[in-house]
Amino acid sequence: MVAVLRCMECGNKYPLEETRFRCDCGGLLDVSHDLGSLRLSRGLFDGRSCECGPEPWRRSGVWRFRELVLPVDEDLIVSRPEGGTPLYRSPALARWVGLAWFAVKHEGENPTGSFKDRGMTVGVTWAKAMGAKAVACASTGNTAASMAAYGALTPEAEGDFDAAAPGPGYLGGSLRSGTLFLELLERVSLPPGLRSLLEEIRAGRRSWRKRS
Ligand SMILES: [Zn+2]
Repeated sequence: MVAVLRCMECGNKYPLEETRFRCDCGGLLDVSHDLGSLRLSRGLFDGRSCECGPEPWRRSGVWRFRELVLPVDEDLIVSRPEGGTPLYRSPALARWVGLAWFAVKHEGENPTGSFKDRGMTVGVTWAKAMGAKAVACASTGNTAASMAAYGALTPEAEGDFDAAAPGPGYLGGSLRSGTLFLELLERVSLPPGLRSLLEEIRAGRRSWRKRS
């Protein structure tokens, strides 16, 4: 087996395909790869840094390392693509910290504006591989926006469920992706138009599904 779920506390192993969030001992699970069976090299990953092609995952800074991320059929990968965000050199910061060279990696240039896209591409890909019909999360903002954006790319999913209260900026992104809000509307400050739209959706007077 190329990869298994391995308990970070006791070392117990479980099949990767098993829907399980914790070990029987309560420990968290990590994806453990059989590195000996993988033919990996620096050259392999470097060569993919300028890879292109019709499939978005070929331009992903996450799936560039796909053997180390998740062993999954490439046809199942859900990517926008993400990662590969630029480094911006900053001479001013370099002077301030006393280094000859200093650069800032701008994760805000991911598809939904946050680093959460890096994990979400893997999470939604695996949900798709496991035959999930919907994805859900509790979020205060960018996780929900990211899940909604990636969930919208999967024709199998009926929608995304956002169980918390994202800020207005992220809320807009989630709405565009077709998210159902199980919201905490009373707890958030929203522009009047957006609030009335959400209340209409909640009351069933307007569909939340992008594709309906
Ligand atoms: Zn354990």
